[in-house]
Amino acid sequence: MGDDWFYSIGYFGIKIRTWCNDLVTKIPQALTNSFLLGLGSEDLEQFAKFQGEKAFRGRQIHEWIYEKGAKDLESITVLPKEWRDSLYNKGIRVGRLKEIHRVLAQDSTIKLLMGTTDGEIIETVGIPTDKRLTVCVSSQIGCPMGCRFCATGKGGLKRSLDVNEIVDQVISIREVMNRRPTHVVFMGMGEPLLNIRNVLDSIQCITNDLGIGQRKITVSTVGIPGTLPNLAKLAKERLGRVKFTLAVSLHAPNQDLRELIIPSASSYPITSLLKDCRKYLELTGRRVSFEYILLGGLNDQEIYAEQLSNLVSGFQSHVNLIAYNPIAEEAFKRPSQFSVNSFKERLKSKGIAVSVRASRGRDKDAACGQLRRQQIDKMKVSQVSN
Ligand code: SF4
Repeated sequence: MGDDWFYSIGYFGIKIRTWCNDLVTKIPQALTNSFLLGLGSEDLEQFAKFQGEKAFRGRQIHEWIYEKGAKDLESITVLPKEWRDSLYNKGIRVGRLKEIHRVLAQDSTIKLLMGTTDGEIIETVGIPTDKRLTVCVSSQIGCPMGCRFCATGKGGLKRSLDVNEIVDQVISIREVMNRRPTHVVFMGMGEPLLNIRNVLDSIQCITNDLGIGQRKITVSTVGIPGTLPNLAKLAKERLGRVKFTLAVSLHAPNQDLRELIIPSASSYPITSLLKDCRKYLELTGRRVSFEYILLGGLNDQEIYAEQLSNLVSGFQSHVNLIAYNPIAEEAFKRPSQFSVNSFKERLKSKGIAVSVRASRGRDKDAACGQLRRQQIDKMKVSQVSN
């Protein structure tokens, strides 16, 4: 029996390692302030048994949380009322977030602001097309990486999200859009590799309990020194096979320009980042995707397309170009359509697999974290005027 078991049971807040002749006995000793959302079917069966109920009660909880979208214990009416009350009194909760604001863009993109139990705000986006519904989820509240083009990075990091808070975002978009999400991208607020265990557990839950295949999931990182080989190992341990896509936010083809755009890159030379990407590819067999946000007049010139093609050539990868959405705090400009096209064509002519990601929800504060910051500002203003 390995750490996996210890880890998943750990959700219950149970301190459970009892060693006896090399055996680990599962003995629940404390059960407080726990969230059920994020637990798989087997975990919930175990949970029901720990609580003196039959395993099928756990399967019922699973169905009501993941299929029927139960928001609290009270609404899981299939469970005996006394048991629901007793769980509630023990501090057990479903662990859903509260929607506090919603905006619908002209292209049907929906942005949700969700409130956490400690009064923080999470931003989530649902991006529909005819065939897909992509949920852009946040992995942290705020972000410590401080990328200069990003509204989220301006406020620093508050904390990392728990598994229930990540999974909730996918369920909430499903409910609001009345449609099953097909894809999940960890490209919202936060640096996923700084919350990697919860991100991997969320991927497991999104895959097993919400039925979205791992291949439809993308984890985006700006790069944390030395973590990619560990990510490959940890992901294999937690998920079995690694099938999700790793997207590395490059945004510049050389160290100086990258540091200008991403100050935290000063501790991670671009050559080391690329070396780690190669290692990741070797360990997982998964092609890496490179994200490149085009900032008008800065990194969108042909010389940088040339440098980028040299950097990634011969590397099994894909480059995603994204036209920048301006935010008030920075003077970066949106690139012209002409420069986006020529950048793309230059890469293509060098044999680089490249695509341009369409910008969605532009009429509704499309930049990551923008809506949340505005809501926080509004709340501050109303607190002052009250
Ligand atoms: S772009 Fe991503 S990593 Fe950079 S500050 Fe924003 S949320 Fe953090």
